[in-house]
Amino acid sequence: RPRVLTLGETMGLVRAGETGPLRAGASARITIGGAETNVAIGLSRLGIGALWLGRVGDDAIGEAVLAALRAEGVELAAEVDGERPTGLMVKESRVPGASRVSYYRSGSAASAMSPELLRPELFEGVELLHLTGITPALSRTSADLVHEAAVTAREHGVRVSLDVNYRSTLWSVDEAREGLQRLLPLVDVLFGGHGELFLLCDRTDRHHVADDSALLASLADAGSREVVLKRGDAGAASHRDGAYEEAAAFPVEPVDTVGAGDAFVAGYLAAVLESRSPVERLRQANACGALACLNTGDWEGTPTRRDLSAFLDGADPVVR
Ligand code: ATP
Repeated sequence: RPRVLTLGETMGLVRAGETGPLRAGASARITIGGAETNVAIGLSRLGIGALWLGRVGDDAIGEAVLAALRAEGVELAAEVDGERPTGLMVKESRVPGASRVSYYRSGSAASAMSPELLRPELFEGVELLHLTGITPALSRTSADLVHEAAVTAREHGVRVSLDVNYRSTLWSVDEAREGLQRLLPLVDVLFGGHGELFLLCDRTDRHHVADDSALLASLADAGSREVVLKRGDAGAASHRDGAYEEAAAFPVEPVDTVGAGDAFVAGYLAAVLESRSPVERLRQANACGALACLNTGDWEGTPTRRDLSAFLDGADPVVR
């Protein structure tokens, strides 16, 4: 049985095979990507069953999404839309190390997600619902779905986690603050980068957040919410039960840092479900994030339990 339920939009990902502007022509590799399924794959690889609720089009990309998730052991509760297409992202690497993403997601099958997708049996045996700030930005009905899912989770005694994942192409900072503040009272574990967590603070609170410790405390709802700060190559910090903790990143030579955040969240949530200590949660999450940086791809490099143990035991991460 899955222990984690997640929902959101997963799209096809067309990645140019060569560096240089796409207009000059390029070969491409087609895979899939979506923040929530990246986390679901990360959890599944760590031995934690995950169930994904979503919508895809009745097309080749939709089939690719479902096939890739099945191959990674993610359970599916996906609806197929006969009229709307599966969304798509195109990644171009103009110069080495920097990529530009174009999205083709408006009017996608997933943007038509609504609370009708929710069924009580989806929550059976589930311990955690994982959400991101992307889904409520897709459409009015998907925002309603996210809210309704969080309310239902709470009613079933299921904990709720949220990764802010701010996407400036989908909504403005003010829209995101309003949309996510509505959700915040339902969230038990909150993830974000510095700018993303700052975005959630009330205008009045912002004057009091002199440092990261104060920032996390201001969002911790008097200690009842666990708040986790992702700091890229500087590691991570958390605030839990009134205590602030920090952990340095693992030193690696990154190949591609995209996907590090989702691998980090998978590692952290796995440690939450294992009831590990705050420092161990950060350490496991940092290790997953660091390992994800060693591969190109949004989820391809998220570690298995075996990769993670080998890395933490000091083995060379490249020899796997
Ligand atoms: P994403 O690009 O996937 O959206 P993000 O912005 O959500 O990432 P980051 O803070 O960049 O998240 O990275 C998440 C975690 O991955 C960090 O907290 C850290 O543990 C690890 N990480 C990221 N970059 C590096 C790095 N260069 N070296 C070591 N660890 C890293």
